[in-house]
Amino acid sequence: MSRPINEASHPVVQRSEAARPRGLRTDYCGELRSSDAGRTVSVCGWVARRREHGEHLAFVDLRDHTGIVQCVVDGAADLRSEFVIRVTGELRLRPADKLNAAIPTGEVELGADVVEVLSASEAPPFALDGRADTDEQVRLRYRYLDLRSERMQRNLRIRARVNAAIRRSMDRQGLAEIETPLLWTPTPEGAREFAIPSRLQIGSFYVLPQSPQIAKQLLMVSGFDRYFQIARCMRDEDLRADRQFEFTQLDLEASFVTQEDVWEMVEDSVLEATRDVTGEEPPEVVRVTWDEALDRWGTDKPDLRFGMEIVRLEQAVAGSEFNAFKAPAVRALCVQGEGALGRGRLDALTDRAKKLGAAGLVWLRVVAGEQGTGVALESPVAKFLSAGEQSAIVKATEAEPGDLILAVAGERQLTCQVLGQLRLELGQPPVSEPPYRYLWVTEIPLFEGLDEAGNPLAAHHPFTMPHLDDLDRLESDPLSVRSQSYDLVVNGWELGSGSIRIHRADMQRRIFSVLGISDEEAESRFGFLLGAFRYGAPPHGGFAYGIDRLVAILAGEENIREVIAFPKTQSGADLMASSPRELSDRQLAELGLRIIKPPARGAQPGS
Ligand code: ASP
Repeated sequence: MSRPINEASHPVVQRSEAARPRGLRTDYCGELRSSDAGRTVSVCGWVARRREHGEHLAFVDLRDHTGIVQCVVDGAADLRSEFVIRVTGELRLRPADKLNAAIPTGEVELGADVVEVLSASEAPPFALDGRADTDEQVRLRYRYLDLRSERMQRNLRIRARVNAAIRRSMDRQGLAEIETPLLWTPTPEGAREFAIPSRLQIGSFYVLPQSPQIAKQLLMVSGFDRYFQIARCMRDEDLRADRQFEFTQLDLEASFVTQEDVWEMVEDSVLEATRDVTGEEPPEVVRVTWDEALDRWGTDKPDLRFGMEIVRLEQAVAGSEFNAFKAPAVRALCVQGEGALGRGRLDALTDRAKKLGAAGLVWLRVVAGEQGTGVALESPVAKFLSAGEQSAIVKATEAEPGDLILAVAGERQLTCQVLGQLRLELGQPPVSEPPYRYLWVTEIPLFEGLDEAGNPLAAHHPFTMPHLDDLDRLESDPLSVRSQSYDLVVNGWELGSGSIRIHRADMQRRIFSVLGISDEEAESRFGFLLGAFRYGAPPHGGFAYGIDRLVAILAGEENIREVIAFPKTQSGADLMASSPRELSDRQLAELGLRIIKPPARGAQPGS
């Protein structure tokens, strides 16, 4: 559920002189306090609720972006839900038995002398007080109303505060905000692209950038030294809870820097935003290599908010007669206090491990030893493990009576990944639950797997600098080469990634050649970047992180749609604006386009 913004240090509206109400009102509804009693005030807003009070009077809760104030009005006035009104009158203290401690204005009420209806409203299609669980399709269709709700007001205010905090941090660190084109050319992140037909050059298309990657590298060649942008990025990928076609990222790049410099710049901004919204100092940002993250948490996006780290058992079971443990990797989790888990649950865990790719799952219940001395293991496979092996397993996992040990054996990466997934399923709190545990995952492999032609695939993008210690294996054993790229992770979510870039043409050619990108292809896709590199490119590196994701986490939301003003549905539609939509024949003709509809589902080819 959405979490309150830190009102104490950052009220919804800044209390600076410049932010004071102007024009039709003297005050904001949610800011009136007992110290204002006796003043004549004018407030404007929407009728949130009306309750009759005897024959002549009505209580009207008036709502604006700061909150609600109770007005006492002449019951004859025709005021219905969501009417926009202006109320003028004397603010007075409520009688002692009518105080409402649940709202900040609960000690006062406004005795209305004049009520002006500024605009009427039809009955809204759903209640805006957040009490009913409204269908999301309806919320999105009437998004302008949905955004009036307290939850959405807060979420978008949190978003504004995060953006402001990022800009403060960037400015303080000397990064210049520079905008780059949206109607552009392909960029290298590898997702499907959106294309916009050109009217002036029929048959040619602009491509919406997946990120400002190439533009920001060019800005380094141009000598801007440190750049940032709160950038809109477009990727035509399947939508999910943490993904929209268009999303916003903090994009930055800096020249003559090391990885550590980039990390510090980024940390400063996320910590500033986190502090600003929560009012609390986040825990220190940890740095771990990709390899270490795999061993300890079985994933490249670890959630550090809970323990249950993966333990190595290879030494404990070295030379064991137990066949299942004769494997390159034997790893385990100690699940505290779950030793009493029933057979049904244990069988389900075993099935889950197999589904994730493991050959099987060994479970061991940790119980007190006979006569209360030491501990023993209870398991169908305990008989295959010697007493020495059993006590070595208990020691390695630091298990105590009442705990459950889950072990998987096999190839290292898969073994760790299976246990990492079980760890999450057994212990992960909701993603947006504090504390906010940021960490850097560093030395990520340069390539991830091979494409159909057998060429390595760039894990980040093809401009990423390899780890200098691994250069001699670039051609002979590319999958073992580490990169100078890094990810920022928070609470198990990948927030963003970046790298030190290749800035010399010879190295870039070498990487293209390993990736199987020919000179001609490189020239046609990224020719202008390679061209720029011929005129003196400084060493540079950068980063980008998702602002939608960061805001969702800080707002206590699981879906980034809840922190975007006008998002798309899962099927990529904007239900309010009816987008995407068909163009008229005239518009199509102007763009030189003719639509060929795909055959209806189920139709035979050629039919
Ligand atoms: N362009 C990259 C991305 O959007 C980030 C970076 O390398 O700076 O993922």
